[in-house]
Amino acid sequence: MKVLVLNCGSSSLKYQLFDMTTEEVLAKGLIERIGIEGSRIKHEKTGDEPVIFDVPIPEHKTGVRKMLDALLDEKHGLLKSLDELIAVGHRVVHGGEKFARSVIVDKEVLNVIEECVPLAPLHNPANLTGIKAMVELLPETPQVAVFDTAFHQTMPKYAYMYGVPYHYYEEHRVRRYGFHGTSHAYVSHRAAEILQKPFNELKVVTCHLGNGSSITAVDCGKSVDTSLGFGTVPGVLMGTRSGEVDPTLVLYLMEKENLDTKLMSHILHKESGILGISGISSDLRDVEEAAEQGNQRAKLALDMLCYGVRKHIGAYAAAMGGIDAIVFTAGIGENSSTVRKMVVEGLEFLGADVDPEKNNVRGKERIISTDGAKVSVLVVPTNEELVIARDTKELIKV
Ligand code: AMP
Repeated sequence: MKVLVLNCGSSSLKYQLFDMTTEEVLAKGLIERIGIEGSRIKHEKTGDEPVIFDVPIPEHKTGVRKMLDALLDEKHGLLKSLDELIAVGHRVVHGGEKFARSVIVDKEVLNVIEECVPLAPLHNPANLTGIKAMVELLPETPQVAVFDTAFHQTMPKYAYMYGVPYHYYEEHRVRRYGFHGTSHAYVSHRAAEILQKPFNELKVVTCHLGNGSSITAVDCGKSVDTSLGFGTVPGVLMGTRSGEVDPTLVLYLMEKENLDTKLMSHILHKESGILGISGISSDLRDVEEAAEQGNQRAKLALDMLCYGVRKHIGAYAAAMGGIDAIVFTAGIGENSSTVRKMVVEGLEFLGADVDPEKNNVRGKERIISTDGAKVSVLVVPTNEELVIARDTKELIKV
């Protein structure tokens, strides 16, 4: 029972092939530089060394075809025939207000994803291209769309509305949508399983801290608030994105520096955050190292990140009227014991405390809070691909 999972970006394509009887990953790969010179496929059959195929990939459809070739390859592939694929699951960034869960792709679904392009102009077009290429190459195979925004559709209206005139919400759909929903759903679920508590009775704050970051309040199984919003800039300090800024600051800078919207957007998305504050790198590893060596701006970036995350945890504990668990995930959350320690320090008043020895862990599921602490703190590596594969299998009900 094989399911293929696709995450199609503007110039890249990631894939994983699952055996859904065992939920085992059979193969995975990354196609880079689609439409750019030097395109290549890095393909890895589980248990084997990765192989690189240097092939010209001028557009996504060729990329999808080459990926299928790699999966069918006699030496490195896993499939004898494409008929073995029961379905393909696609990551789609924006489903607007229409999709609160994953769906089987049909014409209507494609139209709605298209309608959401203005809300995610960088991502939805690439996601659509991947789906359309797959439909063309495998017209008989069901395709499923899994949305980053879907998990957050349970937020109450008072949490997702912005205080601008109401008609802008009606006319332009401006509201908080939130992102990384698949990740927050997965890790909050896993936390309940690890703690052996019913998911629908737990109050969890999930901290997805990577190059892009978001914090979510998951109250009894439902997302009730999240730190990313209409777009992917707000919330905490990210690799190159600013996190929360006062909107009047944006207007002020645009006027003072004579910036147009394109330039301002570039500054907020690409020149800010950990990179903009530290002046060193967007990669937290470099910044942690520089901070240890006494670089004050690197230290400031680290302090700003951890303070922002701590502040959100406090706010979300208030939003939920309590908190049972804090979960760390994604590149920083899974790997940086420094960030986890700094975030939780100061949350003792909530009953959260991290055990330094247990916190000494990278990329593994573990409870890192002290024995008997009121609030459990956990590291849970995220697995968005598995959620997509599970939803896909569930929807086509084989
Ligand atoms: P992601 O977007 O989830 O891939 O996360 C990327 C971020 O995780 C980058 O800022 C990396 O510096 C950070 N990261 C990865 N490994 C480590 C590590 N061992 N220690 C600190 N940060 C890490």
